[in-house]
Amino acid sequence: MQIVIAKKIIPAALIVLSFFLMFETEVNAKSAQRPIVIQGAMPVEVDQLIRGLEKVKKEKYGSFVFYKGEINRYPVIVSKTGKGMENAAAATAIALVKYHPIAIINQGTSGGHVPDIHVFDIVVGKRVTNIGSFKTEIRGKNQGIAPTTWMPMDLTASEESEEEVKAGPIRYFEGDKALLAEAMKIRDQYHKGKVVEGTIGSADVWNNEVDRINWLNSLFGTSVEEMEAASAAQVAESFQVPFLGIRIVTNNIVNGEKYNPDTETAGQSYVYKLVKTYIYNLTKK
Ligand code: SAH
Repeated sequence: MQIVIAKKIIPAALIVLSFFLMFETEVNAKSAQRPIVIQGAMPVEVDQLIRGLEKVKKEKYGSFVFYKGEINRYPVIVSKTGKGMENAAAATAIALVKYHPIAIINQGTSGGHVPDIHVFDIVVGKRVTNIGSFKTEIRGKNQGIAPTTWMPMDLTASEESEEEVKAGPIRYFEGDKALLAEAMKIRDQYHKGKVVEGTIGSADVWNNEVDRINWLNSLFGTSVEEMEAASAAQVAESFQVPFLGIRIVTNNIVNGEKYNPDTETAGQSYVYKLVKTYIYNLTKK
């Protein structure tokens, strides 16, 4: 008799328990919302976004500062990465490990690579790429240097020995489709310039040589250059976390347009709107 009851009760209890566990994980997944991380290199590239956060708490790891807060009750972290590829990569790795973000947006200022992209235009990164990673041809002493013959090198192909380091094809990191679509959907809300999809090129270089910029553009198809997005994208990809680069054009030496600091807040306003719509879509389900 007891055995019969046990045979009936135990499976029934297991079914109830598994339902309970499923429900539990569902509830946990919902209550522990994964934050959106918005990155910017310099104080002028994040100040306004930080002001847009509610319930802000500051956290610091080394020189990397994170402003943890909320937008419309959804967790958002603004990360001041510091300038350049190394800072951006390190800040991204810290954010990924510490905060498990649902998405990373790397945003800020940039310089135009083509004449028809103007100061105040916004480039949404359909893709981002490293424009400072090359393998050169072999040239002996007194054979000079020939930068236009340099071949792009894929930094993610790291398994080879030194002799086998790959040159070309170019490694592009694709912008997350949902974020990209959202960023383009709200483009009519921006009135200071146009919003276009494009290729963002990053390197620890500020290029002011128009011939070099034209060469970079013909090689990589870049719309703008800056110094962070590609390294953040590379690290985000290794964790398979959705990523989008988004850049306001602050200067364009190709068409002679000088740096305009008013662009800095315009860019952040756009990103803020994008994050709000993204949150709306995430939470309406
Ligand atoms: N105005 C600053 C320079 C900042 S360094 C000064 O003179 O001290 C470059 C920063 O600006 C990087 O974070 C980079 O992402 C961004 N940037 C804006 N325009 C750029 C351009 N034309 N080339 C490279 N980086 C650019």
